[in-house]
Amino acid sequence: MKRAMITGAAIVLSLLMPSTLLGWGPEGHEIVASLAQTRLTANAKIGIRSLIGDASLASIANWADEGRPERDETYNWHFVDIPESASGFSDERDCFLPNSRHKGSATDHHNCVVDRIEIFKQVLSDSNASRDDRIEALKYLVHFVGDVHQPFHAIGEAAGGNGIAVTEFGRTQCGRHPCNLHGAWDSGLIQHTRMGRDEYVAHLEKLISDEHLTNGVPNGVSCVVVGRGSTVGERILADSRLTLISATGSTRMGKRIGQVVGARLGRTILELGGNNVLIISDKAVRYVRSGDVVAEVGAVMPDGVLDPSASLG
Ligand SMILES: [Zn+2]
Repeated sequence: MKRAMITGAAIVLSLLMPSTLLGWGPEGHEIVASLAQTRLTANAKIGIRSLIGDASLASIANWADEGRPERDETYNWHFVDIPESASGFSDERDCFLPNSRHKGSATDHHNCVVDRIEIFKQVLSDSNASRDDRIEALKYLVHFVGDVHQPFHAIGEAAGGNGIAVTEFGRTQCGRHPCNLHGAWDSGLIQHTRMGRDEYVAHLEKLISDEHLTNGVPNGVSCVVVGRGSTVGERILADSRLTLISATGSTRMGKRIGQVVGARLGRTILELGGNNVLIISDKAVRYVRSGDVVAEVGAVMPDGVLDPSASLG
């Protein structure tokens, strides 16, 4: 849902906004919930049915937004303001907002969407919790997981993009307020397609299957794998399907990679034991695309100076 802006004038504007623009709009939440519905495990289906019967996840997806005015203490639960300069999420820094004007902020140390997802997950899975509490937890979860997938629900700059004016498909005025980046993501992009909810869901399902996105990435693109080098790393080194291993790290690690991958006649690109230097002259910049630079640094020049006019021009 739309966040409060920092100026009085902006707050007035936001109060005048039509309800269709308040949200990862209702359509967005229903679309996310519909996609989730078709991917429930058999156990999850049984558990959900025991709480909400035959109602769909889409039908409860906007409950948390609808009840927000009456439950002011839930206002900040829909997003998390991670500073742009931060390297990641910090519970202490990002989820305690004592200066927020909303109810309970002075005492709520879990005043953000990340913590609230965890809290409601626990309630939902707690068989000792009351049925009403578990139903409410499910409604919050369906909504918040949708919210947190709107990128501007996770960044602290310009009130999550609400303060960044944009031209949205040729217009600068969105209803009674100037178009802004947060709103474009919430609703503008979806509404521009002129697809109804079910049509949009069908469109996305087709994209997911056509582009083989079931695992979250297109075919052939790797994911981050979390684990110790002695387990994940060794498996990758030994896997002969991976013909090229590129790695950055210590010299000791590089020797190990060279030994294992070399023994199976694989190839390696190693950047070891220090930092690279990259020098691009003024003349070269217009020939160098940023992607080339990122791709080349650490890969092509293990310990030297990259001459873009020679390598990339
Ligand atoms: Zn929300």
